[in-house]
Amino acid sequence: MKIISLNEQYPQDWIRVITHIANLFFENSKVAKKEKEVDLDVRFTYETDADFTVRTTCELKDVASQAVFYTNHTQAYEEEGTEREQNIRLKRGVSYVLLEALEQLTDMHQKWGILTGIRPTKLYHKFRKAGMDKNEIREKLISEFRLSNEKIDLLEKIVDVQLKTIPDLDTIGNEVSIYIGIPFCPTKCAYCTFPAYAIQSNRKQGRVNTFLDGLHIELERMGQWLTERNMRITSVYWGGGTPTSIEADEMDELYDTMYKNFPHPETIREVTVEAGRPDTITSEKLAVLRKWGIDRISVNPQSYTDETLKAIGRHHTVQETIDKFWLARKEGMNNINMDLIIGLPNEGIPEFEHSLAESAKMLPESLTVHTLSFKRASEMTHNRDKYQVADRYTAEKMMQRAHEWTAEQGYTPYYLYRQKNILGNLENVGYSKPGEESIYNIVIMEEVQTIIGLGCGASSKFVDAKTGRITQHHNPKEPAAYILTYEEAIEKKIEILNEMYPSTENRE
Ligand code: SF4
Repeated sequence: MKIISLNEQYPQDWIRVITHIANLFFENSKVAKKEKEVDLDVRFTYETDADFTVRTTCELKDVASQAVFYTNHTQAYEEEGTEREQNIRLKRGVSYVLLEALEQLTDMHQKWGILTGIRPTKLYHKFRKAGMDKNEIREKLISEFRLSNEKIDLLEKIVDVQLKTIPDLDTIGNEVSIYIGIPFCPTKCAYCTFPAYAIQSNRKQGRVNTFLDGLHIELERMGQWLTERNMRITSVYWGGGTPTSIEADEMDELYDTMYKNFPHPETIREVTVEAGRPDTITSEKLAVLRKWGIDRISVNPQSYTDETLKAIGRHHTVQETIDKFWLARKEGMNNINMDLIIGLPNEGIPEFEHSLAESAKMLPESLTVHTLSFKRASEMTHNRDKYQVADRYTAEKMMQRAHEWTAEQGYTPYYLYRQKNILGNLENVGYSKPGEESIYNIVIMEEVQTIIGLGCGASSKFVDAKTGRITQHHNPKEPAAYILTYEEAIEKKIEILNEMYPSTENRE
């Protein structure tokens, strides 16, 4: 952590970006209140010339060593831009020079440059849709955002695959996707902040049944609205929690309600069910998935080291993951995703290599490689001292190995996102065999269409196809709160949908 003093009173949105950049190097950095002792003294200058060129400089002094670093940046723009755009340009300029100064101070190199957002591919698509070609986008990402060529190569590859997977990506805003959250798991993993409540105790308290009753009503009401508007559904994603933590007959009833009520079920391009926890998978549940034609599931090892699984509270063994994968295969699941996490406690390169070697024996259709992130509400973050995790250089090497290994095995990256407090300022990348990409993962990450969220903790994102404006609605995370409020939530979502899609026009 570093306390930073600045040469003038900057607006709050500037302080936010300055803090974000500092946090890439030193966790929990803060801009000083006047009287506080400071670690870094930072002075910016910034101006926009008559020809719209933005010039920024930074003088950064490390108070302890008295070392001083100077950086400057010049960025040309073709037009004056709105007041908001001008402010964004100046903030980018200030971020750029601060990043360079901190790199000199620490000797760290930030491959994502000044990009601290969750969706770098969305930015790439934005430039593409504005008519820029690959070279122009590359140049802009380097000169304005200071991205490395390595990360731009990755973005390029992903965008190409996305456009191949969903050729109508730019017009898919005419359709919607659906997310359904089942908020139960056998136990809670240490890094988890999802709505995941222990199924056993919730069942005893009667919450599982009442939650499911509410969810059936949500499925029916939303299905009715979609039918009235003649809306097409692109993809459905059952997440949570773990949607296979409920009983097989409960799953069966939910899918029955879904298919009876959703319009044009035969045109839904993909239905995924997260069967993330291997300890929830049974032949009976797989038979239900097969009965409803659901073939995309996730069986998530996270790691192939038993001690790690114990340390993060997964309460299942490596062998169970392997057995359940083969069981799912035997039962006809032909699109299986597996998640791995880089940087789990006590794991370094050998453990990750072992996970890759085990993955090679199964070769699932897709492999999502996450980097551990310290989410504010997780057990792991609250007790951080208890967990030994890899340093940023080791984490980077593991991610590099993931890139190499997946390429060797014939996978291509097809979606990517980043998170706050992610180890090594890295990323999460979804890799898949050609033609096995998850459509849902692409549409949610690129925010190209409305996603209607049903069930616990489900966020709805209503995307205005013309303006790109996003309105959000969040269902409560806790089953108890959901049971009391789901009817109101249905009405609220339908109200927003009615405003956004006033008629059935253009959806024939
Ligand atoms: S299985 Fe997934 S949703 Fe459930 S507790 Fe673990 S990380 Fe959270």
